[in-house]
Amino acid sequence: MGLKRDESGRLHIDSPLMGESLMEKGLLARTETDAIFQPMPDVQVLKLGGQSIIDRGAKVVLPLINEIVAAREAHDILVLTGGGTRSRHAYAIALDLGMPTGVLAKLGSSISEQNALMIALLLAPHGGVKIGLDDLTKLPAYLRLGIIPVMHAMPPYGLWEEPPDVGRIPPHRTDAGTLLTAEVLGARRCILVKDERGLHTDDPKRNASAEFIPEISVNELLARDLTDLPVERAMLRALARARSVREVLIVNGREPGALTAALRGESPGTRITVG
Ligand code: ADP
Ligand code: MG
Repeated sequence: MGLKRDESGRLHIDSPLMGESLMEKGLLARTETDAIFQPMPDVQVLKLGGQSIIDRGAKVVLPLINEIVAAREAHDILVLTGGGTRSRHAYAIALDLGMPTGVLAKLGSSISEQNALMIALLLAPHGGVKIGLDDLTKLPAYLRLGIIPVMHAMPPYGLWEEPPDVGRIPPHRTDAGTLLTAEVLGARRCILVKDERGLHTDDPKRNASAEFIPEISVNELLARDLTDLPVERAMLRALARARSVREVLIVNGREPGALTAALRGESPGTRITVG
């Protein structure tokens, strides 16, 4: 690649992107590919929900730890953790103090990391190791050593989290972080372990007549514009644009064997599909 100077004296490196603002629509379209590199297509990325699972304590968490340990012989598993009730408490205080979204995102991140520490220790007798976000590229080495890596799922926007459409709650929380983790690994899907059978037409905890939805495309779900959801809208928007992840599974961590069935490729909960 040579260096060139144009008539105005501006320096260019001779490459397909030289001199571009990186905003021109045609140029952006030309960066598309049908063959995105997928380093770990078979890795099973699963998130244990903070509020929905981890905060329920030993009764719900320990059986899931057993399911993960039993499944690790057959699968490469990366365990991610949500934040949950303590995040909500920290958000409430920060909101009351007038804090912007980026501060809330930073708080949520440390709380999901606290949960990663505890889940990693519960898995420690079986090779559980807490890893940081920067360790993600070491995943193949960890898995080859028989480690069960555990990482917090809050994506690292931190103080730079973008303000949401409405209000101040960080739009990219641990569901979005899980999807984005799976996407960069080239995984075909990810699993969100929560405390209901899956997606319903409304929150089943508040509306007993809410109907279960076993499968739906992400675009249809976005178009339905439901008032409440068990997953972050930012995760759905990222899923609609994902190049590797083809589905997100929501499974009920309170139902024994549901996670194991999902890892086997079955659909015990809701499948949110792309396309
Ligand atoms: P997590 O801790 O895994 O992030 P959340 O508590 O944030 O989980 O979200 C899951 C909860 O969302 C469910 O327990 C359920 O009560 C609620 N929920 C709201 N709307 C829906 C819906 N349309 N379908 C299913 N669950 C819903
Ligand atoms: Mg949540």
